[in-house]
Amino acid sequence: MAAGRERTTIDVKAERAVVAAVRLPESRFDPADPFGELTALTEQAGAQVVGELVQRLDRPIAGTYMGVGKLDELRGLCERLDASVVIFDHDLSPKQISNIEKATNCKVLDRSELILDIFASRATTHAAKIQVELAQLEYTYPRLRAMWDHLERIVGGSPAGVGTRGPGEQQLETDRRLVQKRKIILQNELATIQARKRREVRSRNVDHFTVGLVGYTNAGKSTLFNTLTAGGAYADDRLFATLMTRTRDWDLGGGLKVMLSDTVGFVRDLPHNLVASFRATLEEATHADVLLILLDLSDPAAEMHLETVHATLDELFKEVRRVEKRLGDGQAPTPEPRRVLLLNKIDRLEDNAELLVWMQNHPDAIPVSALPGPDGGLLQGGLAIQDLIRDAARGEVRELAITIPLTDSKTIHTIENRGEVLDRAYDTPGAVTLTARIGTRQLDQLRSAGAKFTVAGDQPQTPRDGWGLRT
Ligand code: GDP
Ligand code: MG
Repeated sequence: MAAGRERTTIDVKAERAVVAAVRLPESRFDPADPFGELTALTEQAGAQVVGELVQRLDRPIAGTYMGVGKLDELRGLCERLDASVVIFDHDLSPKQISNIEKATNCKVLDRSELILDIFASRATTHAAKIQVELAQLEYTYPRLRAMWDHLERIVGGSPAGVGTRGPGEQQLETDRRLVQKRKIILQNELATIQARKRREVRSRNVDHFTVGLVGYTNAGKSTLFNTLTAGGAYADDRLFATLMTRTRDWDLGGGLKVMLSDTVGFVRDLPHNLVASFRATLEEATHADVLLILLDLSDPAAEMHLETVHATLDELFKEVRRVEKRLGDGQAPTPEPRRVLLLNKIDRLEDNAELLVWMQNHPDAIPVSALPGPDGGLLQGGLAIQDLIRDAARGEVRELAITIPLTDSKTIHTIENRGEVLDRAYDTPGAVTLTARIGTRQLDQLRSAGAKFTVAGDQPQTPRDGWGLRT
């Protein structure tokens, strides 16, 4: 570590990173792609992986985890590759981190710190931010020299001896009390957020059909996201402040656009103290209309991953129901999104037999390869996904005469955008009648948002003078 540079942050944006691991007999990793997950995580955090180093040991070395000779090798590797950060595939104690930093002259992160850094950068909602800060209070801050400054700023009150503190008993006690105080503030805040959030999500979903991508890290979510939405604009930050940061227009053709959301994703063996903040980031995805569950079929743990994803989603929806019941605001329960299984990386399978077994067990799944193909779309399976989402977003398509007051330009605009307008008539004073082919689900969404329009053949929603059924 450069002289005088303090470990005040674990942010690794845009840095060149070496990934490293000590593999113990009980370590779990994918032998076919040992650093696959850590590399995907590192890139998610914004850094670039430029090298890797592994040591096999029966047990970790006490002060440094890695052997001293190997650490020397690591320092040389970082120098040669001009890397400024080393990221370990497992957790380390603060003491070990500090020793490895000295030995390598690089900033060192362990796996939990990296994951927490990603959660922190991707947590866009107030609730998710609070969950992340709670986890940081438990995990990160005790490892940062800047912790005390931070706590003083947010909790107020300056304990004695700032900047000159040693590990004195009295100091530790003060610090613990500051952490406790902050935790209670955060937990109270969290409790008041839920009702407001429900309203926000409800109004957003009416205007926008949203599709969430979930699955384990390294399953190919970002690849699929990029391929499907290539050229699509990022969603308005304010509008989607309640969604995960990576939401983009997905053009399904025929004037039909939906919103696609990439998520942080599940992490193998997620450390216990990070579970709550992970769930907070995932919870946003549960408000989608459809969830695409992406599975890396070439991963030997694919079956287990699928079970974990379903079980976690089940729990999250149970929690949503509990919150709704507690709020008791008389609104209909939020519908659960449909789950669609995408079997990814089929190009990596050696033979078809494996895929056939998967398809037998999951007949509704869509086999895909998320890599971009020669035509810019998915290498395989793109059309099937598109058809499925198009049908879901539209509902049953019917040709209808819809009469809308001219003052409601938003609804007129939406119907023009979502349906195929065949005719326009101005027979009704102050209103336009659009003859359009449009999905019934789309009209339902508009109605539930409070749009006032009538459809020929339907009962008028809210009869008013001057406009109504076209007869
Ligand atoms: P995420 O963590 O779920 O967002 O996964 P990424 O989209 O970052 O993909 C992880 C790795 O898998 C990257 O190296 C991708 O290039 C690779 N990948 C994704 N989809 C496919 C696929 O269909 N076939 C192959 N062979 N590799 C893929
Ligand atoms: Mg990703």
